[in-house]
Amino acid sequence: MDCLLDFSKEELKEILASLDIKGFRVEQIFVALNQGKTFTEMNIPSEIKEKLSNNFISQPVLILDKKISRDGTVKFLFRLFDNNIIEGVLMKYKYGYTLCVSTQVGCRMGCKFCASTLNGLVRNLSAGEILGQVIVANKFLGGKLGENRMITNIVLMGSGEPLDNYENVTKFLKLVTSQYSLNISERNISLSTCGVVENIKKLADDGFKITLTISLHASNDEKRKELMPIANKYSIKKILSACKYYFKKTNRRVVFEYVLVKDKNDTLEDAKSLKELLKGFPTHLNVIPLNSVEERNLIGSTRERANEFVQMLTKLGQSATLRRTLGEDIDGACGQLRQKYIDNNGNIN
Ligand code: SAH
Repeated sequence: MDCLLDFSKEELKEILASLDIKGFRVEQIFVALNQGKTFTEMNIPSEIKEKLSNNFISQPVLILDKKISRDGTVKFLFRLFDNNIIEGVLMKYKYGYTLCVSTQVGCRMGCKFCASTLNGLVRNLSAGEILGQVIVANKFLGGKLGENRMITNIVLMGSGEPLDNYENVTKFLKLVTSQYSLNISERNISLSTCGVVENIKKLADDGFKITLTISLHASNDEKRKELMPIANKYSIKKILSACKYYFKKTNRRVVFEYVLVKDKNDTLEDAKSLKELLKGFPTHLNVIPLNSVEERNLIGSTRERANEFVQMLTKLGQSATLRRTLGEDIDGACGQLRQKYIDNNGNIN
């Protein structure tokens, strides 16, 4: 069954017309869906509720469980209508709340340090399933729409590779930034990719102006191949040239992520070649010691080494920050999200 949140207000108008539902209901139903209401909770006649629920799912994402970290970060386990489970992470900052959403169930990119890819890709999420995560988290916080929404920022950095699900992800971007939905500005949305070059360019050509974040993690192709299989397909040079194209078209500074892995990519020589690589290109670098993932035998660098690494970059004139890790104690930190299963007794594994 289709999920009604997959559709824009204009598409909804056509759908309702095909079900003989009057046009004046369009805005009411679109807004109610984006407020997180099910058909039963909407203030509409029962025959309309029946028509809609016979044909469509209203809310595709339900909060199955949540864990709250010592630092206030909330990790949600979301259940989808086909019982797949995905995770989302809610972080509180001075300016508001950021939600980290998943874009796929699992992932096929195979990065050596990441938990989301352990079982490969199960399926893509639809636009409505990505939007549904924002809607339930906003509702959880008591948020409404417009000025009264609680979610202010979105990062597409949960499970999955967003640029491996291009159509649905870009549809989601159009929906979540639209007036009667959450109306979140593109400036407040970041998309993180391991570097699917064609789709970085396509994103710029299609007129999106979100913050592009690249998971770089190495300063040369040899080292990158040891950590990320995608490096066999696209060289760092190709990725950087796509980033320059993105910058030229959007005027948005590209952000690079660099996970520090002990004895792999964390020497001061690595810092120097990283600076060399990004020379002359306005970028910001987020450095983060690898978060431990049980099944992966890679270790994060020490905090001391991470500090030295960032100091070296700063000394060389590269804008860089050492990121705080949030939600580590609840397995909600970067790279720790995974698909969970429910066993026959209803326990979450
Ligand atoms: N597929 C996308 C987005 C999901 S991963 C991407 O590759 O960017 C979000 C970020 O978490 C990426 O920068 C990823 O490299 C990083 N990450 C993955 N595993 C990690 C781990 N164990 N510790 C720290 N960061 C990790």
